[in-house]
Amino acid sequence: MKRNIHLINYPFWLLAVLTMSVYAQDIPAKQYYQNSWNNTNTHSGYLLTNSQYTLCLNTEGENTFVFPCVKATKLISPYGPRGGRMHTGVDLKQNLGDSIVAAWDGCVRMAKESYYGYGKLVVIRHANGLETLYAHLSKVCVKENTFVKAGDLIGLAGRTGRATTEHLHFETRFLYEPFNPATIINIDKRMLISDTLSVHNKKFKAGAPAVTDNAISYKQMLSDLFEDFSTDTTPSVKDSIVMPAPVPPAKKTYHIVVKGDNLYKISKCYGVSISKLCKINNMKETDILSLGRKIKLE
Ligand SMILES: [Zn+2]
Repeated sequence: MKRNIHLINYPFWLLAVLTMSVYAQDIPAKQYYQNSWNNTNTHSGYLLTNSQYTLCLNTEGENTFVFPCVKATKLISPYGPRGGRMHTGVDLKQNLGDSIVAAWDGCVRMAKESYYGYGKLVVIRHANGLETLYAHLSKVCVKENTFVKAGDLIGLAGRTGRATTEHLHFETRFLYEPFNPATIINIDKRMLISDTLSVHNKKFKAGAPAVTDNAISYKQMLSDLFEDFSTDTTPSVKDSIVMPAPVPPAKKTYHIVVKGDNLYKISKCYGVSISKLCKINNMKETDILSLGRKIKLE
């Protein structure tokens, strides 16, 4: 009798296991998060240690950054202490219904119609290990556990939850700990400040770490790969860097067009004149830049 019950349940059980295993494989940056993935809490454990981490912010493909507000915006409240509590993100002025897009490729961890003071909320985990959080939306346009590309529409701006005006409350987090988005993003210019984020002793800094720090990271990485690599390596290798640090910080020879780009912006960002850009790319100043197009810089 018991056997029959097992047989009847078998396909459902198998389906559940298959779904789960595919699912676990697809968790972005799972190496950082001890394979944890849930749809319920913005902060789901204390994983950040004093170790050093180097995260890629702007690698071609999965780590290309797009500013989350499509329309022009103004910083109306910075990250930091506010009214006796910590304001864990930046407030960017928006009008009702303005498009909010994913900052990097990733998987939607939370898409909530109401989440405490955040109101309608989206949280995305990215391949580079960061999570981004978008709050006070008037509409959530994505579903949990689905993948999005940088620049994909994820919601519309609003003032749901604890908000006194239409705006996007935007957070950047690593291992569930929020840090100031202005550490890595120039909000006025809507661009990244650096291609890497360095985290050490729970402090967040833009830019590749110093050469000596890099050397330590690689040593740790190697000792992680070959456990008995050396007897004199530091013992805390388990928490050390997982993603290789990009070395050297190479000068970019081309730029890939993302939403919101124009020749003026690219010219300013890389210090190459518009006329030179037009010449080497065989284009006119008035040409429309198609998304994903490679613009040569030299
Ligand atoms: Zn806010």
